[in-house]
Amino acid sequence: MRDFGGIVERSPVRVVRPGSADEVAEAVREAAAEGLDAVPRGLGHSTFGQSLTSGVSLDMRGLAGVREVGGRHAVAGAGTSWREVLAATLPRGLTPPVLTDHLDVTVGGTISAAGIGGTSHVHGTQADNVLALEVVAGGRVVTCSPTERPELFDAVRGGLGGHGVITAATLRLVPAPERVLSCAIPCRSAGDLLRVQREARADHISGQVKPSEGGWRFEAKAVLYGDGGEPPPGTAETESLAYPDFADRMRPDVEELVALGEWARPHPWAMVFLPAPRATAVIESTLAEMTAAGLGLSGVILVKALRTDSVLFSVLRTASPGCAPVAEMLAANRRLLDRALAAGGTRYAVDSTG
Ligand SMILES: Cc1cc2nc3c(=O)[nH]c(=O)nc-3n(C[C@H](O)[C@H](O)[C@H](O)COP(=O)(O)OP(=O)(O)OC[C@H]3O[C@@H](n4cnc5c(N)ncnc54)[C@H](O)[C@@H]3O)c2cc1C
Repeated sequence: MRDFGGIVERSPVRVVRPGSADEVAEAVREAAAEGLDAVPRGLGHSTFGQSLTSGVSLDMRGLAGVREVGGRHAVAGAGTSWREVLAATLPRGLTPPVLTDHLDVTVGGTISAAGIGGTSHVHGTQADNVLALEVVAGGRVVTCSPTERPELFDAVRGGLGGHGVITAATLRLVPAPERVLSCAIPCRSAGDLLRVQREARADHISGQVKPSEGGWRFEAKAVLYGDGGEPPPGTAETESLAYPDFADRMRPDVEELVALGEWARPHPWAMVFLPAPRATAVIESTLAEMTAAGLGLSGVILVKALRTDSVLFSVLRTASPGCAPVAEMLAANRRLLDRALAAGGTRYAVDSTG
């Protein structure tokens, strides 16, 4: 079995697809009795074997489904994808405040990682927007929240399944805009890209670094929710989109990458959190040593200023034919992680730098 990274391979003793929290608890207890690990797997989009095991693999898609949508919350099974959450909440005019760029990842998988999106500078991570969890911990089903078993609640969010298996989540919802205005802002440098993101008064912000003749070009996207917002200074192009189309904006690219075969290639991804004052230096030194072949044909570089004084720098490499081999890309990831650690940063645990 492999994950999206396509680098690590594990053969589980068995795959179990629980259909309820009790069945998860039973599978966990059975695995423990045999001395085996039970590792939850959502949609397997982590990139270095985080969702893989040679013990018992718990296919959490058996717990997909939105059980309830209330005035400002939804209850979803842990195996529900964010696409499925959105499909249930949009008819009520509601949305999770933070969505991942790619919607086909699970509620349990991203809460176990963090779940960062273009609105994280306003709302934090998806894990920050969970009101309560149902979890299998210590072989039994329990609930936790900021007021009930808060230690478990904190350990499970971002815990990569190590402190319990999330079986359901109560998610905070906010009103969804009908339309958004996406503003593209060309930037001069990595430092400029970060400055523009920090200064833009936008609901959703992102930044991309793209190979260009003789170097790199930088572009920020500032997205204003609703009508009537003024594009930020420096905007070169605007596009008005219906919110559901904006939320699902990656779909055409994904379809193209699947058709090209790039989606199935190994993905040695580096994702590091950098303290804002040192971020520009780390990004610049990484770009200085990187070539287009080291990024891969469909590789992407993202720079995202977060709510806390920190920056998520993602070098999402694809080991395309004719480009650098996986081992070379992993070595480059390791150098980036060393640079990030030296600057006081840390890695995003679902990447392939570890
Ligand atoms: C194309 C693409 C786009 C992405 N975009 C974003 C993005 O915008 N923002 C972002 O933050 N991340 C992003 N990621 C990373 C992704 O969010 C993480 O890999 C996330 O964990 C994926 O969810 P999943 O369902 O695939 O989880 P998996 O990869 O299946 O699992 C991830 C980890 O969580 C554990 N886990 C899974 N389910 C549970 C559960 N129910 N209870 C406890 N532990 C569990 C697994 O054991 C594993 O350790 C992206 C990844 C890809 C491939």
